[in-house]
Amino acid sequence: MAGAGLALLSVDDYVAGVTAGDRTVLARAITLIESTRTEHQAAAQEVLHRLLPSCGAAHRVGITGVPGVGKSTLIDQLGLNLIAAGRKVAVLSIDPTSKRSGGSILGDKTRMTRLATDPHAFIRPSPTSGTLGGVARKTRETMALVEAAGFDVVIVETVGVGQSEVAVADMVDIFVVLLLAGGGDDLQGIKKGVIEIADLIAINKADGDNLARARRAAADYQGALNILTPASPNWQPPVLTVSGQSNAGLDTLWAQIERHRTIMTGSGEFALRRRTQAVSWMHELLQERLVADLKRHPRVAAALPGIEAAVRESRLLPARAVDELLALMTNGPPAT
Ligand code: GDP
Repeated sequence: MAGAGLALLSVDDYVAGVTAGDRTVLARAITLIESTRTEHQAAAQEVLHRLLPSCGAAHRVGITGVPGVGKSTLIDQLGLNLIAAGRKVAVLSIDPTSKRSGGSILGDKTRMTRLATDPHAFIRPSPTSGTLGGVARKTRETMALVEAAGFDVVIVETVGVGQSEVAVADMVDIFVVLLLAGGGDDLQGIKKGVIEIADLIAINKADGDNLARARRAAADYQGALNILTPASPNWQPPVLTVSGQSNAGLDTLWAQIERHRTIMTGSGEFALRRRTQAVSWMHELLQERLVADLKRHPRVAAALPGIEAAVRESRLLPARAVDELLALMTNGPPAT
């Protein structure tokens, strides 16, 4: 079980260490959050509650793109640029594939090698177990910890498996989609829906022989985006060309990310997005908790195999089965 061998610090020590920016304590606090043990979860929630006043100061940037698009190269370089400008950068990953036996998409190779050894950076790979919802929750909580530890830029990256882009877009201030210039019709092969939630698109690897193609692709995407109704009347998502490898266009990329923040702050949408995210996070937690409580309930747990069998054999309608299960939980005191 995750975290089974974890030696606990006191809540005071976690809070003091994280607040002081102590990386060892920060790493241990994240491990506590990732632990599935009930007593660890209780301590983790207490630590998070105590740190809440020091959270929220960072600029939260989501980055997605298929494997090979150049995420780690770009984040490595962008992170170094930001550190050179005096920022402290944390990079968190969401990869719901990381527990599968074939290994993770993001986690196996050594990534962001320069950033990984920089004292002003903190890199944390995706939690290695859980559903997308669980991984996303732990990443949100980790984000609170790194903010409390003084990191003022948090980059959350994902490969975009399943609904992970939506999960990331739902926890950041700006969502950046990295794409490559393909041959032929560039607008094909993008996961439907990703463009709709992009606040900024960057065509990566715009270098060498690829530069002209990348510029054409950028113009095509900009044309396509101009047809869509933007999510905000104040922000038309720009399409840029960048090269993480040769550090080209990254200053413009960051300038646009800052411009987005300035405009959204001015219109009130920056604060609104965070408030909306906090409430939707609460609802996610509520659902997760209700389902967990339901399944743990003794009478439900006892009846569940039989009810599942009845549904499997078409003797019971799924909706009726739900009624029965809920009635077992809500009617009268739980059987022991
Ligand atoms: P990730 O899987 O999205 O993290 O992609 P990586 O950063 O690991 O890059 C995948 C491959 O593309 C590697 O071989 C990189 O050397 C190469 N690559 C990354 N960025 C660039 C770039 O800006 N230009 C070019 N030409 N190649 C790049």
